[in-house]
Parts: sequence; structure tokens; C-alpha cells
Amino acid sequence: MKKEFAVIGLGRFGGSICKELSEQGVPVMAIDNNEERVNKFAAIASHAVCADTTDEQVLKSLGIRNFDHVIVAIGDNIQASILTTLMLKELGVNKITVKAQNDYHEKVLRKIGADFVVHPERDMGRRIAHNIVSNNVLDYLELSDEHSIAEIVASSKLGGHSIIDLNIRAKYGINIVAIKRGNDILVSPQADELIQTGDILIIIGADTDINRFEKKAL
Ligand code: ATP
Ligand code: ATP
Ligand code: CA
Repeated sequence: MKKEFAVIGLGRFGGSICKELSEQGVPVMAIDNNEERVNKFAAIASHAVCADTTDEQVLKSLGIRNFDHVIVAIGDNIQASILTTLMLKELGVNKITVKAQNDYHEKVLRKIGADFVVHPERDMGRRIAHNIVSNNVLDYLELSDEHSIAEIVASSKLGGHSIIDLNIRAKYGINIVAIKRGNDILVSPQADELIQTGDILIIIGADTDINRFEKKAL
């Protein structure tokens, strides 16, 4: 059975989710209370509806509880975001993802039962900051408040040495999960693997250890 998705709020964030799902052939209902925005998505989404999602009757008439996953991408109007999420929850929507504007917004969303809360602006800001601080950091994915996975380029300081030579886990407390080399990917590399300059190392560990590794080893 095909999953049904709905996106509420067609700004840049909700709009790009909607476009990407459609491009992947996933049916998606696009909802916004701004008619102009809805019109822009009429040709992209499988359905585009102009509706105020803070109105329970409106949500019921859209049959929203039959959707597997609803994404609430209302940003600036926190009240509308919270009310919409609460109603979706009460109507029994299976999975709800909500974009949060700040930490307080996130707290409320979690209390009322949002399944996933995302902070796209904050997260992208963090990733870019890591990239700016160290040119060797390509990407940064937070696992928790204190742990991350990072994608870093091996400098010439590492190149030509084996993992065991560098004694990375013992020295820095981080693990190399995989090495990308050209089109190849080495998952769970052996301790005797020789790192080459320009390899992309995918590492996992505590943020403090990753930072130490970035500063000292690269
Ligand atoms: P983005 O930051 O993703 O670019 P934005 O800043 O343009 O979005 P937001 O205020 O975050 O706009 O709202 C996103 C969309 O949510 C807007 O298109 C807005 O019309 C829609 N929206 C706001 N309130 C409601 C509501 N009650 N019902 C339906 N849609 C709503
Ligand atoms: P440990 O003493 O850390 O448990 P080990 O007994 O598993 O290591 P090896 O697997 O031979 O021994 O690895 C020796 C050292 O090489 C490790 O202590 C660690 O510093 C480093 N090492 C090996 N594999 C990795 C990896 N995937 N990521 C980071 N460091 C590694
Ligand atoms: Ca915005």
C-alpha cells in the first residue's frame, strides 16, 4: 500500500519537501491558507488545497487522519503551528513532523505529541559553522546534544599512516566508521588500513572528541 503524505505550509521549507516528494513519485497533499502559494503547487502536488489548518472541521473534511505522515511547516506563526499539531494529534494522525522556530516551541510540540521536531535553520547554521571553522569538515550530523557523525577530509598529516599508527580511537575516543576513497567506500576499516590524503573519513564520537581530532590531527 502506498503511503500518503501531507505538507501543511508551503514556504521555502514545506515547499521544498513537497517538491522533492513529488519528484520521487510520492503522492503528497499540499496545504496552505495562502491561495497564491496553493496555486503554485497545483501542478506539483497530487492535490493542492487552500485551507486554514487551525480549524478542526477543515482538517476533518480533508480526511487528514487517513494520512500516514503529516509535515507541519508553518514557521513564523507559532500559535498556528501548535494548534495544527494538537489537532492532528487528536484526530489520530500516525506520524507528525513539525518545524520548530525555537527551543520553547520545540518543548511545546514534544509535550503535545509531535513525533519529530526539526530546526532546519539552526541545524544548517551549525553545519556551515563547522565547515567554516575547518575546511576539512564536509558535513556534520548531530546524533544527540553531545554526539555527532562528521565527514572530514584526511589531510596530508594523516595521509600515508595506518589507523593503528595514528591510534585514533585510543588517542581521540572517536571511531572511523567508513572511508570514502573516490568511488569506493570501505565500511568498518581494519586497523591496518592506510589512510590516503584526500580520503573522506566518516567518524563518530563525542563532540568534544571530534573537535579535538579536527584541531590536532588534521
Ligand atoms: P519558510 O521559512 O519555510 O520559507 P515562510 O517564512 O515563507 O516559510 P512561514 O511563516 O514559515 O512562511 O509559513 C509557512 C507557510 O505556512 C506560509 O505559506 C503560510 O501561508 C502557511 N500558514 C501559516 N498559517 C497557516 C494556517 N493556519 N493554515 C495553513 N497554512 C498556514
Ligand atoms: P582498542 O584497544 O581500542 O580496543 P583493539 O584492541 O580493537 O583496540 P585494533 O582493532 O587492532 O585493536 O586497533 C588498534 C588501535 O587502532 C585502536 O586502539 C584504535 O586506536 C585504532 N583503531 C582501529 N580501528 C579504528 C577505527 N575504526 N577508528 C578509529 N581508530 C581505530
Ligand atoms: Ca521563515
